[in-house]
Amino acid sequence: MQRLRGAPQRLGLTGRGLLVADLNTWAAAGRRAFAYIMDSGVATVEILVLREARPLPTEPVVDQVQAHADGVDFLIAVGGGTITDVVKYVSSGLSVPFIAVPTAPSMDGYTSSVSSMLFGGLKQTLPTCCPVGVYADLDVLSTAPPRLLAAGVGDLVAKYTARADWVLSHVVTGEYDCPQTAAQLLQGVNRLRAQADELGKRTLETVRSVMETLLQAGLAAHWVGSSRPTSGSEHLLAHHWEMRALQTGMDHPLHGDYVGVASVLMTWVYHAVLAGCLPLTVPDKPADSEFRQVYGTAADAVLRARPRVCGAGTVERAAMTRPEWAAGVQAFLPDPDELVSLLEAVQAPIRPRDLGISSLGAAEALRLGPYLRDRLTILSVTEADTAGFPF
Ligand SMILES: [Zn+2]
Repeated sequence: MQRLRGAPQRLGLTGRGLLVADLNTWAAAGRRAFAYIMDSGVATVEILVLREARPLPTEPVVDQVQAHADGVDFLIAVGGGTITDVVKYVSSGLSVPFIAVPTAPSMDGYTSSVSSMLFGGLKQTLPTCCPVGVYADLDVLSTAPPRLLAAGVGDLVAKYTARADWVLSHVVTGEYDCPQTAAQLLQGVNRLRAQADELGKRTLETVRSVMETLLQAGLAAHWVGSSRPTSGSEHLLAHHWEMRALQTGMDHPLHGDYVGVASVLMTWVYHAVLAGCLPLTVPDKPADSEFRQVYGTAADAVLRARPRVCGAGTVERAAMTRPEWAAGVQAFLPDPDELVSLLEAVQAPIRPRDLGISSLGAAEALRLGPYLRDRLTILSVTEADTAGFPF
C-alpha cells in the first residue's frame, strides 16, 4: 500500500484523479490509499464512496461514477469485482488510465482488459482496458471476509473447463489458441490444488498464492485478447444464475460462488461426454417464450446475442475431431471430486442447492446458459441435464 506514495508521478499520471470505493472498501483500504496518494503532493484526488451496501455493475452505478468522473485525468478503483469492473468501464469510455487497489482475492478481473457488466439485466463481458498499476496489499487482502477468498478459489477452479472449452473450439473451429498461456495458468491452479489443506488456514502465504493466480488469470485474458482462458461453459451457467438473481430480487451471491458451483457441474458434464455417456448432438433450441419467461426484460438482449456456432455442422465436426480434443482435455481435466475437495477446504459452496438453486434451476442453466454469448463450449454440442449429478 505504501507504494501508492508517489505512484501517480511514477505512472505519469498528472492532473485530477477520482478515487472510487464503497463504504466497506473505503474503510478497508480507501482511506489509506487516499492518504498515500495525497502524500505525493502532486495529484489532486477527489473521492466517491458509493452508498449501496453491495453495488452491482449496473447502469445506475455506472451513471454515478460517470457523473463524478467528468473531466478527470485518471481513476483509482478501491474494491473488488464490481468497483473494478465499473471503474474500468468508465475509464475506458473516457480514455483515461486507472489504478486498481484490490480489497479482496475474490475474482480474476483486476488485471484483465474486459469488464463483466449487468446492463439491462443481461450479464455481458465487454472489452475495456487494463489498469496502469495494481497495488495489492497482502494485509488488506488477508483481512477481507473469508467468503471472498472462497469466491476467488471458485473463480479459479473454473479454469479447467474454460480450458477444455477452448481446446474443443480450437480443434473444431480453428479458433486462436495459446497453449503456453493456458499451461501457465493451469499450473497456477494446480499448485493451489496441491495446497488445499493449507488454503483452509488462510495464511498470508495462501492468500498470496490465490491472489497471484487471480492476477495471472486476468493477465492471461489480456494477452489473449478475450476472456477465453478464464471463462467457458461454467461462466455461462454462472451468468444465467446471476441474471436470475437480479430478476427475482434474491440476495445476490458472489460471482465466484456461482462459478465454483458451475465448475463442479461442468467438470462432471465433461467427464460424462468423454466417457460416452452423453452423446454429441445439436441441443434442442428453447422457444423464445421460454427466454421471455425466464429473463423478463433482458430477454430481447439475450435473443439478439444468440450464438451462431450451434448447429449440425459444428456437431459433425466435433464428432469427427473427437479423438484430438478429447485427448487434449483428458490430459489436464481433474475429477469433479478434486474440485470439490479444494472448494470444501475454503468452505466455498459446491452444489447448486448450496446457493438456493434447485435441480430444475441447474437444468435450466444448462439449457439456456449457452445462449448468453456467442462462444463455442461443450454445451453447444451436447444436451446436458442434471440427472445423475452426484453432488
Ligand atoms: Zn469469473
